[in-house]
Amino acid sequence: MRSRYPDELNSGQRQRVVIARALALQPKLLVADEPVSRLDVSMQSQILNLLLSLHRELELTIVFITHDLSVVRQVADRVIVMYLGRIMESSDADTFFNRARHPYSQALIASTPRFHGSREELAVLEGEIPSPISPPPGCPFTTRCPIKTPECSTAVPPTREVAPGHLLACIHR
Ligand code: SF4
Repeated sequence: MRSRYPDELNSGQRQRVVIARALALQPKLLVADEPVSRLDVSMQSQILNLLLSLHRELELTIVFITHDLSVVRQVADRVIVMYLGRIMESSDADTFFNRARHPYSQALIASTPRFHGSREELAVLEGEIPSPISPPPGCPFTTRCPIKTPECSTAVPPTREVAPGHLLACIHR
């Protein structure tokens, strides 16, 4: 790989180069923003395994940003769900995938094929995604929430600890 030009590398090899460059400074924290979103399944698995072994062997903390919950399931110790720049729910991964409480978290899980069988059974979130620069009043999820009430639009829901280490921003859950 050392003697090749960047455009001679495949997408998986390019991701490895990006990761190697990021590790050259021996960081304690690595932010990986959608690192496998453009890779095919076998390449995805190679890059995920590489990141997991770096996490274990170098004791490297990795903040993994992704829209793909099946990837989250494979790599995460802790999950933070954000919507319009706000934290909706945060917990350890097992709690999240088995007992998520926020309507947005539940909708994400219900719309992921790997967790919910055939495509026909998958849930689809209705409603408009508001602009992050002009969010709706109160809870940012009101325009799409299936259980919203008028009260949801009166104030941004406070973040509560509903169980040890489990944070939630919803007034009805
Ligand atoms: S506060 Fe209201 S709109 Fe927001 S997630 Fe909870 S129920 Fe839905």
